[in-house]
This record gives sequence, structure tokens and C-alpha cells, in this order.
Amino acid sequence: MEKILIVDDSPMQAAHLKDILDDEYEITIAQTAEEGLRQASKANFSLILLDVVMPGMDGFTLLKKLQEEIITQSIPVILITSLSDVESEQHGLILGAVDYIVKPFNHLIVKARVNTHVKLYNYRKQVEYQSQTDQLTGVANRRRHDQYSILKWNEAVRLQVPFSICMFDIDCFKVYNDTFGHPAGDKVIAAVAREVSSHLKRSTDFFARYGGEEFVAFLMGDSSEKAFKHLKKIREAVENLHIRQDPSVSEWVTVSVGGVTLVPQTENSYEFYLKLADAMLYDAKKFGRNMVVWADENMKQWREK
Ligand code: GH3
Ligand code: MG
Ligand code: MG
Repeated sequence: MEKILIVDDSPMQAAHLKDILDDEYEITIAQTAEEGLRQASKANFSLILLDVVMPGMDGFTLLKKLQEEIITQSIPVILITSLSDVESEQHGLILGAVDYIVKPFNHLIVKARVNTHVKLYNYRKQVEYQSQTDQLTGVANRRRHDQYSILKWNEAVRLQVPFSICMFDIDCFKVYNDTFGHPAGDKVIAAVAREVSSHLKRSTDFFARYGGEEFVAFLMGDSSEKAFKHLKKIREAVENLHIRQDPSVSEWVTVSVGGVTLVPQTENSYEFYLKLADAMLYDAKKFGRNMVVWADENMKQWREK
């Protein structure tokens, strides 16, 4: 069941709204704006019904706070209020409420509006998800990478934790396509993505298809030694999938990997180190492929073989 949060200081009003909606939704009630704010950032609500006039923090202020927080800003808010003047309604809508219902209300109208906004919210979430997901592999796409990498990079700068950036490229993939055909090549890209993902399961790990037969990953918190070892394991795991490659190239399909680990400082840029990871990948290709090449914190290069 989808979750709805009702924020209303009047227990009677809140109970009335709950009655109207609780056959279709799981309802949580908060009796103050402060409690509403706490609840809203805890569970994944599909909608918030917010009373405007409350003692202490009022509904407008709460709405503003919800809009400022990353975790709550996308949740649609419907204001329910006895303030029927045009200015209040305009103010609420400008602050970002999706709808405005004046008391006393008709319960069928409330239900219809709630249903519509929950439906729109789900549709938006789905579109957002699709726009950030690579269709062939189901992993994050380049657009998602571009947004998320900056966010996480800044977090690593703030927390002063090691950050590893890593580029993967399937070896001699043109030959693979020429020998086995493009559709078979697509399956290989998906299989490699699945295998690599299965080794990047921490909540701080990120993995995306960067384009074509190239992938990008970043890891947080590991020293270069640990990251290097982990990527070596992933490189081996891909080889051990035993996907037959054209014999003129090698026995199995393999990947080359280039990476860098550093504790990022404010003056460093993600883009620069992404390029450095790509340079390490280039070296891995040059040194014979199916290999991990890494730049450590002191920009010393580590090679696997
Ligand atoms: P290297 O080891 O140096 O990376 O050689 P390579 O042949 O893998 O590299 P190159 O950049 O020359 O060729 C990449 C190939 O990847 C060519 C292209 O057809 C193939 N490719 C890119 N995207 C896709 C895709 O979505 N599906 C399939 N099947 N092939 C793709
Ligand atoms: Mg390539
Ligand atoms: Mg390649």
C-alpha cells in the first residue's frame, strides 16, 4: 500500500481525513509540523496532506522546509486549510504545493485529488528512473553518473575519505562483434555489467555504463591498495564468466581496468581524476589488456602484471 502522511494539529480533522483514505492508503498522522518533518524524512511517502494553521511551526513553513530537503522535496504536498483567501492559496502554490483544498471539503473530491497526485507522483518517479537507467544492462546510465558523481565527490571532499574512480573497457570488442554478431555482443555487455555490479554492492559503491562497451565505477572509503585488489578480483571474475572470445584474440572475453584513488581536496576536480582513470585504462590496454592499472594517492602507478 502507498503511504500518505497527514500533518494536522486537530486529531478530529486528521481522523476524518484518515477515514476517507485508509481503505486505499497506509496513513501516518503527525500532530505538529516538527513531527511531520521528522516523519516525512523517515518513510517514503507518496503524498503529504498538510494543514496550514497550526500552533508553533505552521504549514507554510513546513512546506518550505520539505522543499529544501533532498529526501522530501519530491513528495507532493496538498495543503488543506480553512484559509480561503486568494493570497493564502497563491502563497501555498508558489511555495510548491501541488494542490490546495479549502475546508470544509467534500470527501469524494479529496479522494479524487489525492488519487490523481499519487498517480502523477508515481509516473514522475518512473520517468526519472528510466531517464537514469541504461536500457540494455539495467545499471545506471551516463546521465546518472554525471549527476551522482559530483554529489558523492563533494561528500568525499567534506568527509575527507578516500575516493576511487575506475574505468572499465571490454577488450577487443570490435572483434567479438565481427565474429559473433552485434546481438551476441549486446548480451556480453549485459553479462559483464551484471557480474561487475554483483561485486559493487556497498551502499557507497556506484557503477554505470559510460557508453558503448565502457563502464565507470566509484568506491568510497577504501585505500588504493584495497581498491586495486578489489578491482583485480572483479577483472578476474569477468574472465571467469568464460564467455568465448574470437580465438585470434584470447580464449575468453576480458576487461581492462584503469583507476585512481585519492582523498579529494576542494581544489581538485572530479573530471580531472576521471580523465586520469581513463589514462590508466589506456595504459592497461597498452600493457596487454585484461589488466588493472591504478594510480595511488601519491600518483605512483600500480600494475597487475
Ligand atoms: P580495445 O580492446 O582497445 O578496447 O578494443 P575494442 O575493439 O573493444 O575497442 P573499439 O573502441 O575499437 O571498439 C569498440 C567496439 O564496441 C565497437 C562497437 O561496435 C562495440 N560496441 C559499442 N557499443 C556496443 C553495443 O551497445 N553493443 C554491441 N554489441 N557492441 C557495441
Ligand atoms: Mg571502448
Ligand atoms: Mg574495448
